[in-house]
Amino acid sequence: MKRICIIGGGVIGLTSAYYLARQGLSVTVLDQADEVAAATSHANGGQLSYSYVAPLADAGMPLKALGWLGRKDAPMRLKLHADPRLWSWLWQFLRVCNSAANRRGTTRLWQLAQHSRALMAQLRDEGLSGFHWRRNGKLVVFRSAEGFAAAQRLLDFQQALGAEQQALDAAACLTLEPALQHLHGQLAGGIYTPSEEVADCRLFCLQLKDWIAREGLDVRFAFGQRVTGFERRSSTLVAVQTDSERHACDAVVLAAGVGSVALGARLGLRLPLYPLKGYSLDMPLGSQAPRLSVTDFDNKVLYAPIGDRLRVAAMVDLVGFDNRVDKERIATLTRLIETNLPHSGRLDTARPWAGLRPATPSGVPLIGRTGFDNLWLNLGHGALGFTLAAGSAELLSRQLTGQAVPPSLAGMEPAW
Ligand SMILES: Cc1cc2nc3c(=O)[nH]c(=O)nc-3n(C[C@H](O)[C@H](O)[C@H](O)COP(=O)(O)OP(=O)(O)OC[C@H]3O[C@@H](n4cnc5c(N)ncnc54)[C@H](O)[C@@H]3O)c2cc1C
Repeated sequence: MKRICIIGGGVIGLTSAYYLARQGLSVTVLDQADEVAAATSHANGGQLSYSYVAPLADAGMPLKALGWLGRKDAPMRLKLHADPRLWSWLWQFLRVCNSAANRRGTTRLWQLAQHSRALMAQLRDEGLSGFHWRRNGKLVVFRSAEGFAAAQRLLDFQQALGAEQQALDAAACLTLEPALQHLHGQLAGGIYTPSEEVADCRLFCLQLKDWIAREGLDVRFAFGQRVTGFERRSSTLVAVQTDSERHACDAVVLAAGVGSVALGARLGLRLPLYPLKGYSLDMPLGSQAPRLSVTDFDNKVLYAPIGDRLRVAAMVDLVGFDNRVDKERIATLTRLIETNLPHSGRLDTARPWAGLRPATPSGVPLIGRTGFDNLWLNLGHGALGFTLAAGSAELLSRQLTGQAVPPSLAGMEPAW
């Protein structure tokens, strides 16, 4: 039986383990942490955002980002430093900041998201539960007429792909979601997507890990092991070396989030991946909690009721591979909540968190084989890793076992 080593026990590595083991493969998941979902999959925004998938790179983005430079409370921060990985990523990002590339990326992400949506429904139908899943709908609100007009153009494009979304005027937004009442007079309108879902990503990972065991799938977890290198014969990897053990294998899946950059470099691969740091606050629901998931587009803040808690996630900081919580950014986020959706959550007991989104310049993940015979990638899911996990993992399992891939899921393979 083929032995597969998956590096990374986040939502991408774990779903990969599930779908590969379902194909009858013998899987070992390696992670330096002591449990699944210890890094970026830990306390993300919880959105299963199957319709709202447009990448960050778009025609207006460079100008917008320039306007944010130097502003401490800006939704995006850029710390320029001498790391060539940053400059190379920024250069590639600028090259895809145009409408044609954005529409191409949106289409690919849309297809992968629909595949994910169907697989997640199948998992729930089979009995996977306990991760606060809910189809609560999502409302993205805009303050400027210009921003709202651009969103309506995107809506037209997404509707052509099959998304069910509605443009609402400001009054309709407040009626639909009374928690927005403090923004009365400030909104231009919103885009409502009734079919969007929400869940806790970390709980999903924990439940899926238990489910794998209950189903008797051949998956072993090797926690607390940091991968330090690879053993290879010519272009074939024969083992993964960690700080405590050697794992012989027939194939390796690199699903280590932003950690994939350093691991790829050990094999001479320059992965087009850079961390986009974000923050979240997790707290009990307040007296004026939103019922829907709400995105305050201009501030890039998302509010999601998950179970009996509110998760507020925000910010895109290009500040290197540092996942420490920055108190100043958390203070900014707290102020934004107090101003815009006061009493939505119990801020006095909020738990702050920071995570690094593993982002490709185009926003489209890399799923497929590299120049090595048996090294596979499943990484670069950026701001949509939870949303795209099931579909990406199932796609990878098809590729790795030589099964046909539907044409709608083409275009994710790394270009090596
Ligand atoms: C603020 C914020 C909000 C977000 N909101 C959403 C959202 O609402 N919806 C959504 O779909 N997505 C969201 N995301 C994105 C999503 O969280 C990520 O895309 C996803 O978690 C990435 O999963 P991953 O498995 O690739 O990486 P990770 O979860 O980071 O897992 C990688 C694993 O690899 C391990 N690893 C790394 N290097 C090594 C090594 N050398 N040896 C051993 N182990 C190693 C790490 O310990 C880690 O456990 C958000 C992200 C952030 C930061």
